[in-house]
Amino acid sequence: MTSLLESYAAITGNDVIDQLRQLAKPLLNMKVVHVNSTKVGGGVAEILEKLVPLTNELGIETKWEVISGEAGFYECTKSMHNALQGDKEHISPQLLTLYEETNLANAEKLRSVLDEADFVFIHDPQPAALINHYPNRRGKWIWRCHIDASHPYRPVWKYLQKTVGCYDASIFSLPAFAQPLQHPQYIIPPSIDPLSDKNIDLPPEEASRVYNEFNLDPDRHLIVQVSRYDRFKDPVGVIRAYQQAKKFVPELQLVLAGGTATDDPEGAMVLREVREAAGDDPDIHVLLLPPDAHRTINALQRAADIVLQKSTKEGFGLTVTEAMWKSKPVIGGDTGGIRLQVVNYHTGFLVHTPEGAALRIRYLLHQQEMLTQIGAKAKSYVRENFLITRHLREYLTLMMGLQYESQYRIKLG
Ligand code: UDP
Repeated sequence: MTSLLESYAAITGNDVIDQLRQLAKPLLNMKVVHVNSTKVGGGVAEILEKLVPLTNELGIETKWEVISGEAGFYECTKSMHNALQGDKEHISPQLLTLYEETNLANAEKLRSVLDEADFVFIHDPQPAALINHYPNRRGKWIWRCHIDASHPYRPVWKYLQKTVGCYDASIFSLPAFAQPLQHPQYIIPPSIDPLSDKNIDLPPEEASRVYNEFNLDPDRHLIVQVSRYDRFKDPVGVIRAYQQAKKFVPELQLVLAGGTATDDPEGAMVLREVREAAGDDPDIHVLLLPPDAHRTINALQRAADIVLQKSTKEGFGLTVTEAMWKSKPVIGGDTGGIRLQVVNYHTGFLVHTPEGAALRIRYLLHQQEMLTQIGAKAKSYVRENFLITRHLREYLTLMMGLQYESQYRIKLG
């Protein structure tokens, strides 16, 4: 029977798999724990879903733990998230106390697992303060920031920095996000899993089901944005871009597909704004999908002529990678991780405004050959740079680096 790992060889080649096995050898039987704050919804959950079983298969005992808290906790951590991305958020002392208490309660719950771990990866600000309750920890603790932290709002960053500074290392997705910290910082961009339901090739009848399901016309142009209903994803900007492009391309249809992440309390409010901006245009389809609608999202991305990700801030933008893997040109906001993926004029277009996005939509729809070429380049760019096998290789290298660093220190006494 083919192992999970071997099933990737058909896409990446055998050498990549062999290299992962080699890299894992010095780490065999070590214990790794990832901690985040949601099992479903958002990019972190999407990545851990496959990274964890793959690391296990390499002989490294890996667990995924999820912390939980009451509504006020998520309100606080969403504000931290927004502040790291530059919003001037005032977080009340009461909410900060709740943040700390929630981390304390979760630290107690997770004690047996975290105490025996050799490596603990803490994702984003939500569980960051767990470390404060492990003063005598044995393993290496790494803070993994998935957010565009290039220009954080200082008062909130100062608060978080005290905690983040306690970690043995941190990981950011882009060099521009790195912060002045006293420990080693690693740059590791995220990745997609080409074999997940979200990205795997679909049989034609399944791919075309979305036309009926969402009342779309297969003979007309379709643009799609898949994203949580979050202001940084600028769904209203996408509607404005569609409205302007439609004046010149009347047969245009738009799908905004989103769901809610359990750790995102702002979604409902943004969804209301989106519905209001969409008005009664029957060609705008605002979809609220369940968290496990991976094959539906896959099919929508495949049905699109062009995929948009008009974010104004973006840590990475897995939705960009997903679309590029399906050979779609992406029109993306000129920000954060989108810049790493969308190479202007080659794998898509970078834009600053709805007007800019509208112009590129019109351009690509009138240049079908260009659209196909850009789509093909986008796919090979993802194959080279943004698949889970590359991501796993970099995590293994990081763990080895930290391991050797401490052995070296011990030797030096
Ligand atoms: N996603 C999903 N359902 C939705 C909206 C998003 O499954 O309704 C997925 C999307 O396909 C992607 C991830 O959630 O895999 C979002 O990751 P991204 O990095 O684009 O943004 P984040 O939500 O982490 O800010």
